Parts: sequence; structure tokens; C-alpha cells
Amino acid sequence: MPDGGQHFPALVLNADFRPLSYFPLSVWAWQDAIKAVFLDRVSVLSEYDVEVHSPSLAIRLPSVIALKDYIPASRKPAFTRFNVFLRDGFSCQYCGDRYPTHELTFDHVVPRSRGGRTTWENVVTACACCNLRKGSKLPRECHMFPRLKPCQPSTWELQENGRAFPPNYLHTSWRDYLYWDSELES
Ligand SMILES: [Zn+2]
Repeated sequence: MPDGGQHFPALVLNADFRPLSYFPLSVWAWQDAIKAVFLDRVSVLSEYDVEVHSPSLAIRLPSVIALKDYIPASRKPAFTRFNVFLRDGFSCQYCGDRYPTHELTFDHVVPRSRGGRTTWENVVTACACCNLRKGSKLPRECHMFPRLKPCQPSTWELQENGRAFPPNYLHTSWRDYLYWDSELES
């Protein structure tokens, strides 16, 4: 068993060698990674310098694995609080400032009390301050308009936004795979 306290997560790439997800970054616990190796579902691209032992064999823990079967990204992302924040780049759509998630809330552009619905098209990320200031007013009544017209993002758009938020922990063997997948100048 690896030493306690260390997790040795494996970066999981799709069969096209791009991470399954950027934010949160797709990683598996080493136990799941090892299981997938034995089931022949993944190829090991890089390993940690750490082994686990069973009575009959020793195996190095994978640090980067790629799925053998391609998993297509679903077209419609889930309408969740987190995905709204991700669409809006974790920034308040009224003042434009970026906040950590626990300081963000969401705002109904057309307030619920005025018939506004909870949809991708009517919900935006807001800081508590702007949310309070806007209250139950329509944008034109308080001159507060969202910076971007809210709409349903594609999974691809969310993935693109996720790239801008690097994970807290990056094993060095992951860097190449994340780096090579970055867009060249467009
Ligand atoms: Zn704000």
C-alpha cells in the first residue's frame, strides 16, 4: 500500500488523449486506476515512482491513463449552480469582479416575483452585493444589465472556460498532457 496521506491520483484522458474534463480535472483514485488497468479499459501513459504489492506481483501506480474507448461529451451540460458560475467565469455579471464560489450567488435577470424563470437564459452569476442591490427590479429599472446575455452553453464552451482555472494539484507527468492540449494561437 502507498504511504498514508498521499493519494496518487491518475489523470484520466479520453481515447483522443484530451482530459475527460478540465474543471474539475478528471482524476481517479489509484485504486480505480489500477482496477481499470487490470480490466484492460485504459492504457498507462505515465507512472508514479511508487509500487503497490500483492502476494504475486508489484505494479507501479499510473499517473496518466487514457481510456481505450472514446466517451463523447454530452451535448447539453447540466443546469447546475456550478455550471452557471463556470459559464460566467466565476465573475459577477453586474460588477464584473471575480469571486471564490462561496461568495457567489445567482441572480434572476427578470426576478421570479416578476415572472422570471430559473433557466440558463434568465440566471446569471452575481456577487452578494450586486444581488442585493438589484433586488426584485428589472434591469432597466436599476440600470443593471448582465455583461453577457445569458444563454445555454455547450459542453465544449464549459470545457473551454474550465481550462482557465488550473487545478490546485498537478503532478509533473500531467503537465505535458494538459499543455499539449492547449489551443494554438487562433
Ligand atoms: Zn457584483
